[in-house]
Amino acid sequence: MLSESLNELQKCLQLLPGIGEKTAQRLAIHLMNSSKHKAKLIANAINNALEKCKPCSKCFLLSDTDPCPICSDESRDNGLLCIVENSKDIYLLESIKEYHGKYFVLGNLLSPIDGIGINDIRINELDKLISENNFSEIILALTPSTEGETTIQFISEHFSVKNIAVTRLSTGIPYGGDMEYSGISTLLNALKRRYPV
Ligand SMILES: [Zn+2]
Repeated sequence: MLSESLNELQKCLQLLPGIGEKTAQRLAIHLMNSSKHKAKLIANAINNALEKCKPCSKCFLLSDTDPCPICSDESRDNGLLCIVENSKDIYLLESIKEYHGKYFVLGNLLSPIDGIGINDIRINELDKLISENNFSEIILALTPSTEGETTIQFISEHFSVKNIAVTRLSTGIPYGGDMEYSGISTLLNALKRRYPV
């Protein structure tokens, strides 16, 4: 081990998704070789985001304000609720400028094989949000994968007794693929052509 601290930085960078050992090593050395100013900027930005950016208490979108800008925007459609897995899905859906309702971040998709069950998704928080609002439609914008399908099935059954339409995005997003990589026009069509579960 040539530098224990560099090794530690490399190991931390490897915790990031898609960063393997070699890339982590390259990034760690790059950060230390380039001006220290750049490394400090990154470290400060992480600290600042950790301090200010928290899940919104209503929809769980990561935000610097609580409620988040979407929950506090009264011009949005209060009858529509779009359920997503992650905050990044909201950024993606907002970028297509087609959806103007509210959101809810589930936090996980059900995956019994990985031990991810009902207690690992925000179902109680979702129940609370739904009981406090008057939604006419719940749109399930979840990845079409085994986990996504299991979650869609569970949520649609969970709300089957309530008088709320439950819809899902239309096909077009590749099975098992991340919504992020499906392309804007595909996602726009999938949203426009959503159908009842
Ligand atoms: Zn919110």
